[in-house]
This record gives sequence, structure tokens and C-alpha cells, in this order.
Amino acid sequence: MDNAKAYSAASAGSTTIAPRDVQDEVRPTYKAKAYSAASATSGLASTTIERRGLLDHDVQIEILFCGICHSDLHQVRNEWKDVMPTAYPCVPGHEIVGRVTKVGSAVTKFKPGDLAAVGCMVDSDGTCPECKAGLEQFCPNFVLTYNFPDKHLGGVTYGGYSDSIVVTEKFVLRVPSNLDLAGAAPLLCAGITTYSPMRHWGVTKGKKVGVVGLGGLGHMAVKFAHALGAHAVVFTTSPSKKEDALRLGADEVVISRDANEMAKHAGSFDFILDAVAAEHDINAFINMLARDGNLTMVGAPDKPLAVGVFGLLFRRRSFSGSIIGGLAETQEMLDFCGKNNITSDVEVIPIQKVNEAYDRLVKSDVKYRFSIDMASLKSE
Ligand code: NAP
Ligand code: ZN
Repeated sequence: MDNAKAYSAASAGSTTIAPRDVQDEVRPTYKAKAYSAASATSGLASTTIERRGLLDHDVQIEILFCGICHSDLHQVRNEWKDVMPTAYPCVPGHEIVGRVTKVGSAVTKFKPGDLAAVGCMVDSDGTCPECKAGLEQFCPNFVLTYNFPDKHLGGVTYGGYSDSIVVTEKFVLRVPSNLDLAGAAPLLCAGITTYSPMRHWGVTKGKKVGVVGLGGLGHMAVKFAHALGAHAVVFTTSPSKKEDALRLGADEVVISRDANEMAKHAGSFDFILDAVAAEHDINAFINMLARDGNLTMVGAPDKPLAVGVFGLLFRRRSFSGSIIGGLAETQEMLDFCGKNNITSDVEVIPIQKVNEAYDRLVKSDVKYRFSIDMASLKSE
């Protein structure tokens, strides 16, 4: 099944999702605590879910922290219904760090007690050209951490707003021991999603790099652009974030609603990363690119953006997209963060505050990522 078909298979009411109670083979399972959404409007509430018992290559992880990505909100509220509809109940969460509690008999990379992390994917076919190239994020048969058909238990996969998860060893990553765990969790999505396109488009010393939107992804992009030696310029709609942007490593900050400030940078960027979660004028940023400059979208607004083609024709500019990163590059990013002591700036919350956190995320009222302390789930 290719990705697009799998997305539709994940849709509520689809006949292609095997219900959890009609699997032809009975597999051992165990109960885990979690927070799930029952519908697009219900919000998240405490529940119990089934996780698979360990297969030979599986690692069981006690989840310590899970970041809240704007993609969690898009999916819980079914905002991507046209592309990637949500199957309910939905247990979101793909920025997972924790400690290994058990390993299957064939596991070699991890032992109980080790720190471990899981990002947006939990499986892929391992045989296609994309997997062979270490680009599992483009595998036509990858499996996302939540809201994706679960080949083991039927139904859909359940993510990291939970006390534990079972994942095949290949998709479990190592966390450098010097990193704060609450701040390391968002590296698994916000980190790799911004690191990967920067590496792909050659962000390095001497390049002028723009970051649009200082949210969870955007603030990681600023940290990486700075660490990679580029001249980093933040475009924000929030004047109150100016001081923070400079502290995070920006060399300049532009208030994107100020036409005069914007005009000063016209035609000057080698690369711009757009991490905005809502509809906005993309052409204003395309026109900021120099000859052969590239603007990569990582933000995923639910509505199409109108691209003025003339902005691309002049100066041979390009407009592209990028999604997370492969396993090897995700590990490279985590190791880079370990060496450079980079973590996300987080507001740690108990799981009981998750619905409030979602409402604040919509208002861009978080500096700069919520990270759920999963110990709070014990009291449920
Ligand atoms: P976030 O923390 O909510 O940040 C989004 C930022 O966009 C806000 O902080 C705000 O920054 C800016 N913004 C919001 N509304 C805006 C508007 N109407 N006009 C202009 N700017 C606006 O979200 P996030 O978790 O970083 O995620 C950002 C987007 O990336 C989401 O759509 C998410 O689904 C997507 N995503 C994609 C991937 C991928 O693999 N491609 C991975 C993860 C997430 P300012 O206040 O600075 O303007
Ligand atoms: Zn994410």
C-alpha cells in the first residue's frame, strides 16, 4: 500500500482497517495507560490501550517525556481530513524519550535501563530503494507512530501520550546522555524536521538562512542554523518573540507583517525554511530568495497555499517540501545535539493539562514546545 492509500486506510470508518478484535491470529498484548481523543471535538482524556507483547526484535520503552507537536493537534482535531484523515480513538505523540524496560530475544542495540527515543515512524518495508538509501520517511510502506494501520494488532497505531510503547529495534534511537530529557523529546520531530532540509540544502557558514515562524519547529531551526554557522534571520508575526529569537541564535529578526522591514531583505536569501502551521502569504518569502535560492515548506497548513509562479521563474528560485528525516539522519541529528548541547526550549506540563496546552498552541502561546512529563499519567 502506498502512503496516500495508507492515509485513507487510516480514515475513520474505512473498511480497510482491521478492527482490533477480529485479528486472525491471537497475539499476546498488555494494557497501557494513555490519553486519547474520541472525536475531532472531544479533546483528550485518560484511557487504557492495548500494546503488543514483545516480538523478538522489539524494544519496550517506559515513556518519560513526549513533546506536543502541532501535527498532534492537526490530527486530533482532524484538520488534515482531506489528506490524512484521523481514525478515532486517536492517541497522538511522536516525540518520545524514555527508558528501555524489556527487549526481545533478538535485540542487540538496547538493554533494559538504556535511554531510548522514538520519532514519527515505527516501521517501514526495509527493502525499497528509499529504505536502502536510508530515507525511510519516503518508504511507500512506512508506518507512522500513530493514526496509521497497525499490522500487529489491527486498528491504528497509538502514539506517545502513554506510559509505554513497543517498537521494533531498528526504529528506536539512542539519546545522548548529557541531554535534558524533557528538552530532548522534541528533537524526535521538531529537531529532525528542521535539521534534515538544512543539511539537504547545504546550510553552512557563509549562507543567509531565513526561518519563518518561531514555534516548536522554527526555534529548533534557528538553533541549527546558528550551530551550522549560517547567518540566521527569523521572520515572526509576534513582536514579543524578538528578544527570544536573538537569544536562540538569530542574527536578525524581521516582523513579517511590517512591509518596510521585509523589503530590506528582498532577493537576499540562499535558503528559507517555512514552519508556519496556518495559511499565509508564501510569495512574500519566495521573493526574499536570491538566485537559485530555495524555500522549503515543513509547515503543513490544512489549506493549499497560492504560489505566484513568476516569483520562481525570476532568479530560478525553487519551492519544495520536506518531511521528518530517515533513521540514520535522525541519529546523526541527536548526536549533533549531544555534541553541541542543543535541546528544545520546553514548558513541561502534566498530561492533565494537555487540552489547555492545545488551546495555547493555537494561539502560539508556548515557548517553544510543550513536553509532557509522563510520570503524571501514573495518577490516572
Ligand atoms: P507551532 O509551535 O504552533 O509553530 C507555528 C508557528 O507559526 C507559530 O509559532 C507562529 O510563529 C507561526 N504562525 C502561526 N499562525 C500563523 C499565521 N496565521 N500566519 C503566520 N504565522 C503563523 O507549530 P510546530 O509544531 O512548530 O509545527 C509547525 C507546522 O509544521 C505544523 O503545520 C506542523 O503540522 C508541521 N510539521 C511538519 C512536519 C514535517 O515533517 N514536515 C513535522 C512536524 C510538524 P510566529 O509567532 O513567530 O509568527
Ligand atoms: Zn511532529
